Formats: sequence, structure tokens, C-alpha cells
Amino acid sequence: MVTARVETVVLDAANLAARNPNGKKADWRFVFVDQVKAACERRWDGVLVRAWMDASAESRLADRDRLRSARQAGWLEIAPGDADDLILEFADDHRAAVVSRDKFKDARRTYPWLEEPHRVWNWTWEKGEVTLAPRRLRPVTDEEVAAARRKKALKAGVIGLVDGQVWICRAPVGRCTQAGRSTTPKKTLNKYYCARCSYPAEEQVYATVLPAPPTLTLVVDGANRARLDLPPGGVVLGRGGPTRPDVTDVTGFLDGGAANDIGRRHLRIDLDDEGRPVVVHQSEAGSSFLNPRFGADGLPADHRLEPGTRYALDDDDELVLGAGRVRLRVSFEGDD
Ligand SMILES: [Zn+2]
Repeated sequence: MVTARVETVVLDAANLAARNPNGKKADWRFVFVDQVKAACERRWDGVLVRAWMDASAESRLADRDRLRSARQAGWLEIAPGDADDLILEFADDHRAAVVSRDKFKDARRTYPWLEEPHRVWNWTWEKGEVTLAPRRLRPVTDEEVAAARRKKALKAGVIGLVDGQVWICRAPVGRCTQAGRSTTPKKTLNKYYCARCSYPAEEQVYATVLPAPPTLTLVVDGANRARLDLPPGGVVLGRGGPTRPDVTDVTGFLDGGAANDIGRRHLRIDLDDEGRPVVVHQSEAGSSFLNPRFGADGLPADHRLEPGTRYALDDDDELVLGAGRVRLRVSFEGDD
């Protein structure tokens, strides 16, 4: 498999710093950003790593001394507003790879390279160790881009976190020491105000997806055929049979010949430390693709999974098995 050379990488530090141990409240530590930076440096020899973090995320860190070290070393900057804009501008200027779980739907037309292979990377945590894998963002329609832009405009630069709450003082600059920054709220008649200045306070909600139990929908020839639950111990999907009780069969709706396109133990899906699904293609025969584009012949044309590599799966992702008649759609319940 050809892997494009990555010379510069930009980290979405707020996204990386919030870790959700399976089903628990997010744990905020800059050490996770340090670990991902180290993983990038191991993977790409001589790579230049830069990172941006939202100002409001800084106050949630349990280890702010590490953040200070990163700023002093010059590879981390604090974004006064939405770090995403700075991350994408930098990536565009430097042809950098982006490490983030954001889908950047509002920016897909401004930066079409977001949908190219090897420009966006995801990570998984397994027993405290981080693994990077290329992420293919599912192409979006113009309507989806427009909806994402409206949503972003409504939030007026407010990005947000999975659980716990951060409140931003909305006082004009100069009226409050916390104007535009995180503050302690007070609640009056179901509205929140900055406790220092009494201007309205606005909740900041981060875009990390809560790992609710993910489900897989088996789609064969375009029709939804079954809903597969993902047990905590993971699942092996492939060509089932009486001698393979460990395999969940995904070929039952195919005629005989087509089933041979799918390996006996085609792929495995596990949950990582945060309860996020991770796929590993493990079949010698056959192939799997994540959010591929399709050629004129109707066959999946790109983003083939390298056997043995761990790829994080996201809400709305589509895994395509073999020639494409069998697909698995990933959904995280409760995600909007
Ligand atoms: Zn205030």
C-alpha cells in the first residue's frame, strides 16, 4: 500500500486532550496530546508537528504545566476563538495532515483536500497506547455543507465538549475580565449569566462524539438486512458456518458465488479504551474499504484497509466488504 509522505502534521489539541474512558466522564489531560505528538514523530521520521487548542479547553486540563511546556517549546498555540479555522488554514498552507475527530463538514468546499486520502488522521487508544490511522471522511453533499455552515453560524464561534460544561462570558471586551473566556455561571430563571459581570454566559459544547454503544447495520445490495450489536469483547464478521461459531455471518443474503468474495474471518471490530469501534481487516483473501469512492465499474476504488492495521470508526462511516454488495454502516446512538 502506498502511503503518501507526511512532512507536516497539525493536531486538534482540544480534541486529543479529552479522553472518554469507556462510559465515564471525559478526562482532560495534555499528556494525551504529548503522546499523539510522539506517535506522529515515530511514524513519520523528521515530521514537523504543530497544534492549536481552544482557550476554553485550557482551563479544563489537569496538567496545565505540560501545556505551558508545549507553548514554550513553540509547537502549541492557543486559539482565541475556534481552533478549527486556524488548524485548517495551517494545513492548507503547509499541505499538512490533520489529526482530529472533527468531520469539518462546513469546510469541505473551502478545503476539498479534506476528502483526499491521508490528509485526515484518527487515533485509537489500546491499553493506554495510541495508534494513528488514516481517516477517510465520507464525502458530503452541498446540502450537508450548507446545514453545517448554518449550525456553525448559530453557535457563533462556540465549539464545544462531550460532557461536563464550560460557560463562556458573553460580555463585550473590556466589560469583564472573563469576556469571551470561560467563567463561573450563575443561573436565574433558567438563564445563565457570568457570575462576575452578569452579562449572559453561553455554554460551550465540544464536538467529540460520545461513545454510546455503537451499532452496525448490515446492508446488502442497498437494503438494510440486519442490525448487529457490538459486544464489549468485539466481533468477527465474515463467511459464517457450522465450523466457525465465532464468526457472525454477513453473507447470508448473497448467492453462492458472491459469498466467496468475503473471507471466512473477513474483519474484526473491537472497542478501544474509550469504547470506540476499531476495525481490523484480517482476511488473506478479499478486501475491505472504509468510506471509499466508487469507480465507473461500480467497484470500490480507494481507501482499502491495510490488513492488520487498526482504523477507528466514526458515526456514519461505511465499511465496504469485497466488491461492495455487502456493507456495514456504523452508528453511535444518540448522536445528532
Ligand atoms: Zn463576565
